[in-house]
Amino acid sequence: MYILTTSFINKNFLQSIFLYFCNVKLQTLTIKLNHMPGFELWGEEERKEVSDVLETGILMRYGFDGPRKGIWKSIELEKEICKTFGSKYAQLTSSGTSALTTAMAALGIGAGDEVIMPSFTFVASFEAVLSIGAIPVLVDVDESLTLNPQAVLNAITRKTKCVMPVHMCGSMADMDALKAICDEHNLILLEDACQSIGGTYKGKFLGTIGHAGTFSFDFVKTITCAEGGVVMTNDEAVYVKCDGYTDHGHDHKGVDRGADLHPFIGYNFRISELHAAVGLAQIKKLDTFLAIQKKNHAQLKNILAQLPEISFRTIPDATGDSCTFLSWFLPTEDITKAVVAELKAQNIVAGNFYWYANNWHYIKQWQHLKEATTLYNLNEEQKTALLKLQTQDFSVSDAIMSRCISTSISLLWSEEQVKEKGEKIIAVIKKVLEKESINA
Ligand SMILES: *Cc1c(COP(=O)(O)O)cnc(C)c1O
Repeated sequence: MYILTTSFINKNFLQSIFLYFCNVKLQTLTIKLNHMPGFELWGEEERKEVSDVLETGILMRYGFDGPRKGIWKSIELEKEICKTFGSKYAQLTSSGTSALTTAMAALGIGAGDEVIMPSFTFVASFEAVLSIGAIPVLVDVDESLTLNPQAVLNAITRKTKCVMPVHMCGSMADMDALKAICDEHNLILLEDACQSIGGTYKGKFLGTIGHAGTFSFDFVKTITCAEGGVVMTNDEAVYVKCDGYTDHGHDHKGVDRGADLHPFIGYNFRISELHAAVGLAQIKKLDTFLAIQKKNHAQLKNILAQLPEISFRTIPDATGDSCTFLSWFLPTEDITKAVVAELKAQNIVAGNFYWYANNWHYIKQWQHLKEATTLYNLNEEQKTALLKLQTQDFSVSDAIMSRCISTSISLLWSEEQVKEKGEKIIAVIKKVLEKESINA
């Protein structure tokens, strides 16, 4: 009995230590990764949708019509996406990266085609371009932190096939200007809206304005399904190609998968029912997420706006900002670097992103891209284009990105916490500015 009791206590004790460490770990995770935070409001709704799938055990989105007992989470999520964002068609994929790859394949972009994209994005944008044999042409961003339309115009050649704006950090590119350029030069407009779920431009959802657009539902996006993505388009032919491409070229016309025809070569970029189930719960919370983001964003912006040295990102349609981040500029690169260093010194750097020095989001640190470091042989055109990036002048982007800090907006902040965050940032900047003026 004694032994039993001790081992019971021990077990409880060990369990609480374990839970304590899990908790600490989870908190660190939240602090480090609170990018765009659907995962912050995980709950009963997600568990319910997933358990519907676990009940039947049919984890695949296609086939097994009998045993799945009417549970079709992927189809349901695609319908919900069409309804929510006003897109005619939606094709779920295994990730945002595979959504971009799928969209490009379906739009007929391939070997030798040039895709104009911004110098500031996530690496996935150029990964997708390279994966279909095309050439990423990187051009400058402006203070919208997205494609500079004039830089796009300057980069157009005979080989240009597509312009791919990336709606970074919750807000949008100047879509009227980019659409006009694409129309005039007969180019495909493909929106990488992976980071801007729920953002709008002149009344239309980001990702639904070009020939096609993509979202990512990875773990740190506005809504998550762990891993997943979607291609949205209003073009039925493009959609049908996406549908086949993500499933080994299956035409999905019959009831027997094995008897399907393969009108073209495809791939496997399928989403699973488990992932789609999570997405289904999350998309129903999107309005709540956006409302919280907008409220916290507005409060933080009001605080930072008190300091005349801070300016903010330009937003082509301010009402359409999804407000996942508040992006702001300081007057010079030196001041910005000093502020970042001071934020670090005071241990409040988490959630404040200095993209200029970041390994994953800006051309400056993409040595692997500029040196064409791949595991396999690229085609010669791709290799030549990548090596040329080493000498390309990105000083216009540098001048913008080196002064920019993006503060990610959490869904969990109280008003008090936003106030505290804002005031801490202000205090850091004031301290740096005072030092500067003494040194000057
Ligand atoms: C997250 C992201 C992607 C890729 O999404 P994954 O689902 O992580 O593959 C593509 N582009 C941008 C701008 C992103 O932020």
